[in-house]
Amino acid sequence: MVDTSRLDDLIVCTECDALYRVRQPERGQVAVCARCHTVLAAPRAKAALQIVALAVATLILIVGAAVFPFLRIEVGGVANAASVLDISYAFFDGFLTVLVIATMSMILAIPALRTGLIIYVLAPFIVDKPALPGARAAFRVAQQLRPWAMAEIFAIGCAVSLVKIADLAQVTFGPAFWMFAVLTVLIVIQQKFMCSWSVWNALASQTPS
Ligand SMILES: [Zn+2]
Repeated sequence: MVDTSRLDDLIVCTECDALYRVRQPERGQVAVCARCHTVLAAPRAKAALQIVALAVATLILIVGAAVFPFLRIEVGGVANAASVLDISYAFFDGFLTVLVIATMSMILAIPALRTGLIIYVLAPFIVDKPALPGARAAFRVAQQLRPWAMAEIFAIGCAVSLVKIADLAQVTFGPAFWMFAVLTVLIVIQQKFMCSWSVWNALASQTPS
């Protein structure tokens, strides 16, 4: 029989698969992989509050980025402004429908769902309440969705293609473009900030299942 009581303090490096036995680092301390220097665990004081605050800001920006005008194009005195949702409706036809649904999922729906799940999991910790039902499953889904949340890749892709059409038409960025730009920064900060090992640890000590 394997002694499972001692498996709780095992941690695997996400980069090089090295296996370590760790104890909860003190506040302000960071556990780092000895082989590749990847951060393994970095608990922070009031981390839950800061992550939830970031997540709420992210959600608001995602909604804004969808409905506010994304860009305004002017050719020969005729101007047209469109939001991301307007653009997606315009392509909602035949084969392109699949493409539109996939794109909208990756740039809006999945980032919004992930952010919502993170709020659901972490919000109770802010007020020192037990985790909500299904918090562990919710956090697992949030982690699995991470590669499919591509709001930031979309923003970079748009910036590159807009530079290319700038010669053909007068292009002005709308508020949604800048919301995507801020969103990109927020998502990166949130991913750097959220120590998933600490979240699992906190969930394990709170929920019975
Ligand atoms: Zn490593």
